Amino acid sequence: MIWVDRLVQQLKKRELKLEWVDDMKTPSGRIHVGALRGVVIHDLIYKALVDAGLDAKFTYVFEDQDPMDGLPAYLDPKKWEKYMGMQLYKVPSPESGYENFADFHAKEFQHVFEKINCHPEIIWPSTLYKSGKMNGVIKEILDASAKVREIYLHVSKNKRPDDWHPFNVVCDKCQKIGTTYVYKWDGTDVYYRCMPDMVKWAKGCGHEGQKSPFDGNGKLPWKLEWPAKWKVIGVTIEGAGKDHMSQGGSFDVASEVCRKILHYPVPHAFSYEWFTVGGKKMSSSKGVGTSAIEVSKILPPELLRFLLVRTPIETHLDFNPYGDTLLNLFDDYDRCMNAFFDKKENKIPQGKQGEVLMDFARIIELSEVRPNPEKRLFLPRFRTLVNLIKTSTDLLEFFEKQKGSTLSPDEKEQLEEREVYARVYLDQYADEEDKVEFMEVIPSDLSLTDKQRIFLQEFAQNLAVNLTKDEIQSAIFSILKENNLSPKDVFSAFYQAVIGRPGGPRASDLILEFGVEKVKSRLSQVLDQAGSQIKKEKGESIYPDLDDSKIFNIDAKLAKEYPSISIGIAIIKNVSIGKNHLEITKKLEEILSENSTLTNENISAYPEVLSYRKLYKQMGIDWHSRRPSPEALLRRISTGKPLYRINDCVDAYNLIVMKHRVSVGAFDLDKITFPTQLRLAQEGDEILLLGDSEPTKYKSSELAYYDAQGPYNIDLNFRDAQRTAVTDSTKNIYLNIDGVYDISRKQIEIVMKETIETIQKYCGGTVETVGILKAS
Ligand SMILES: [Zn+2]
Repeated sequence: MIWVDRLVQQLKKRELKLEWVDDMKTPSGRIHVGALRGVVIHDLIYKALVDAGLDAKFTYVFEDQDPMDGLPAYLDPKKWEKYMGMQLYKVPSPESGYENFADFHAKEFQHVFEKINCHPEIIWPSTLYKSGKMNGVIKEILDASAKVREIYLHVSKNKRPDDWHPFNVVCDKCQKIGTTYVYKWDGTDVYYRCMPDMVKWAKGCGHEGQKSPFDGNGKLPWKLEWPAKWKVIGVTIEGAGKDHMSQGGSFDVASEVCRKILHYPVPHAFSYEWFTVGGKKMSSSKGVGTSAIEVSKILPPELLRFLLVRTPIETHLDFNPYGDTLLNLFDDYDRCMNAFFDKKENKIPQGKQGEVLMDFARIIELSEVRPNPEKRLFLPRFRTLVNLIKTSTDLLEFFEKQKGSTLSPDEKEQLEEREVYARVYLDQYADEEDKVEFMEVIPSDLSLTDKQRIFLQEFAQNLAVNLTKDEIQSAIFSILKENNLSPKDVFSAFYQAVIGRPGGPRASDLILEFGVEKVKSRLSQVLDQAGSQIKKEKGESIYPDLDDSKIFNIDAKLAKEYPSISIGIAIIKNVSIGKNHLEITKKLEEILSENSTLTNENISAYPEVLSYRKLYKQMGIDWHSRRPSPEALLRRISTGKPLYRINDCVDAYNLIVMKHRVSVGAFDLDKITFPTQLRLAQEGDEILLLGDSEPTKYKSSELAYYDAQGPYNIDLNFRDAQRTAVTDSTKNIYLNIDGVYDISRKQIEIVMKETIETIQKYCGGTVETVGILKAS
């Protein structure tokens, strides 16, 4: 049984004719989501009372008589300061269409709680006081002023001056209520001074006067108004946030006054914990982004109510809309919803497990916003939906396949609604990596393969301003078909050009979101930039073709099998290699922070990574167990593991590898016996890899670099041999840069240039030989 039903069982025993549930809030600004917890808790008690067959009422008091004692951050102090100290219902509304300041903020909050199916009757104390209904309790309390002072002293250790009287009267001269001090009560009138310095937030005018305290001329101080209101309204149940319920706090004072002065039974009370958002403690004045109305936009009403219903009242509820919280909340909701259906279908087992399921079902009953479904519904899982949107999958098709039949109209409605919130989540709260923004600047090293160039050219030509989503989609498919292109080979270029990432939401969605003109002009920019790179590649390569087979050659058989291979070779002499260079440390930290949101999905979409994986597959190597070295480095970053520090030479070129995803190998030239060759391994050849104590055997399908003594590397860029490793005593370096498939000669040149510059920066040395050798 859940807490509210247990409470009602208890309350039932007192056999009151009418149970009156009440809650309240001062609408002094935009109301924080924390206050919503009070509304829902009281609403639950009210509904559970009704469910148990008791007569019950539920009211909500908006304290519009309270003085304005602080300004919300969104209001201009210059304009609003003059109202400080005045009653909220006498201050104008910040927006037109509302009666006053209190009305404006109360209505906004009321709108939120009505949306989650809480419909208390609203009570405005300004009306209550003016109607004269409070006159009796005002007299009782003023007559007992000395006793009130005693209660303050005893219960809350708060000593009031001997002439202090428990009433806040409105100053006849300046209309403020927060600044007056009542020093006498003669049974008909209160006598007051309007004090210039009594409170920090408002200045009194100094006026002295006397007037009747009745019929709306003022109000009781809050701690006394609370019990007075219990008596006048007839409240029998009212809880409060734990700040009011501490020992010697407002509730203790109110109860004492209720018993000893008003002679009214203290309502059943309870304390509930905070409801905060994103870790911040609740506060009406500084709650940016945590007001009830803002939080209500993150969640469907059912889920917001569910969140409040299922959390025990003594548990601090901190809702963090970022990360996984929302996804988990939907999962929990679905789990309870299933129990609800199980209950309807009489499928709940006996025993402990059955009790838990019954509680789940009850939570759903109490979370009802719209009528709960009559029959079991297929619920599309929110987490799956979010992922499907990210990968632009057809949602309806997916879920119908998952369900095994078409979705009913109710199920379709569920799907559509969840999609809306999934998009809000992806747009505002999912991790950075899930956000998509138009990239303002094209990276200077963005390069295109021939296929990608053709695709972008055709696409830019075919994009017209007035195309619909479907037309854009079909244009894409016909371009792919006519040019015999596969989406896998060319789409990453589109995404890189537009959002700076290798993948993203459906292309047509992005185009419509950013605007056709903007995307078109971006594609031409990228094509221009790539075009100038091509010219450069054709006319003026940075490095010559390597034409010295006594240094390096590619085995003819291999070249035939892998014609796309191109290798960069360089010799750098007289280096001096240190360790843990501080500047490299700094650069590594930069890379780590730039890539803090890198995921394995991002890595798997890089064309360079895909090229190496393709090679591994062709070599018969499972790239899950042996990762190409650039991928291995990036995966360490994405999983938050620290990068190995080897020495300044290796650390330096690893920076370049991570930047370009193209592998670089460096070897100790003095341990190498020329000629070197890239070839298929000899079956049974062995290599002692760096860090290993046992040699590894090759299969004849594996690629390896060989020198005259044997292999010194395995699988092009998986790992290198101990024999030729660069250490801090290495003086001369032999470099290779590995290109295959989509990794162009141009890329090899750029990577070569940056690698040489970086090594020279940290280790010095002179370049003796450098060139590129292509297999075909
Ligand atoms: Zn005054």
